[in-house]
Amino acid sequence: MESLAPYAAHNSTSRGRRYRETAPTHRSEFQRDRDRIIHSAAFRRLEYKTQVFVNHEGDLYRTRLTHSIEVAQIARSIARALRLNEDLTEAIALAHDLGHTPFGHAGQDALNDCMRDYGGFEHNLQSLRVVDELEEKYAEFRGLNLTFESREGILKHCSPAKAADLGDIGRRFLDKGHPSLEAQLTNLADEIAYNSHDVDDGLRSGLISTESLSRIQLFDDQYQEVKRLYPDLNERRAIHEVVRRMINRQAVDLIETSLSALRRHDPVDIDQVRAADEALIGFSSEMHQQNLELKRFLRHELYRHYRVLRMTTKAARVIGALFEAFLADTMLLPPEAAQHVRELEKISGSDGRARAVADYIAGMTDRFAITEHERLFDPRQLT
Ligand code: MG
Repeated sequence: MESLAPYAAHNSTSRGRRYRETAPTHRSEFQRDRDRIIHSAAFRRLEYKTQVFVNHEGDLYRTRLTHSIEVAQIARSIARALRLNEDLTEAIALAHDLGHTPFGHAGQDALNDCMRDYGGFEHNLQSLRVVDELEEKYAEFRGLNLTFESREGILKHCSPAKAADLGDIGRRFLDKGHPSLEAQLTNLADEIAYNSHDVDDGLRSGLISTESLSRIQLFDDQYQEVKRLYPDLNERRAIHEVVRRMINRQAVDLIETSLSALRRHDPVDIDQVRAADEALIGFSSEMHQQNLELKRFLRHELYRHYRVLRMTTKAARVIGALFEAFLADTMLLPPEAAQHVRELEKISGSDGRARAVADYIAGMTDRFAITEHERLFDPRQLT
């Protein structure tokens, strides 16, 4: 690990785990975190959770699992270029969406509505909850007992009210501090990944077109270039060529802009990164603007396309109905989930009861949620 920059996350300066453990023999602490994430049940479930398109809509679309792997790939490349900790970066990237509900953002908004009187539902907080509490695998502790640095990276956003209850991991949201550079870059690698792959999936689905995307500079610069270099290339290959160039442009911009910020601030260690007056990983202002333009386009033209909205409002109704049914009658829950409800209810009454129901629903894959809905509401289903 000699090649790591001084401001990277180092094993030796880690703030450690919540429960003390002996150091791993042939791995770093952050490798161990990454490995625990890969072996978790929540990670496997990402395969059947929606990114934009509901899982059964087509085999070629991104799911939360392939999205997380793409984020890890982009984030690791950037980390290596900046001499940051690749293992920590990979751990954060693979875990960043573990708390996502079924049916993407529509599912999360629906569950947040359901939980309005019980403390709300935030998927970033839920990702932390998954690794801290909900995964039950190890003999000695609840959760995956990850390092502070992985947990800090997973908790990307958090409302100040919630941050106050989280102890050391919530501090930076109250003090206006920053997380590690590895966490900062993974957050932006997430944006690079979804902006680019949603263009790809959006075009494949036919819901957006290259003509409408030509209004968007980040797309059009590359599209014109590809058409000029390869005028006879078929459409599918041309789109892939454009998307990979978009990813590269953004990654290169991020690396170069961040390197100059790091040179300017010259932090001696990770704690100076955390205390800096601004985030040190970022795009140039021009790229930032281009990114916003693309995001706005995708929001209007893809995420709010009537065919996407039909699917997502249907999904939101499934979540709402499941929540209502389980909260009203927890006898309908399978034994393990019912046990979880009893435990949380004992600790914090009706809030705990609702939280446990939300945990159960958030953990579902798209297809499991649909099947549970059928089992509960379709009178022809007798089991
Ligand atoms: Mg993501």
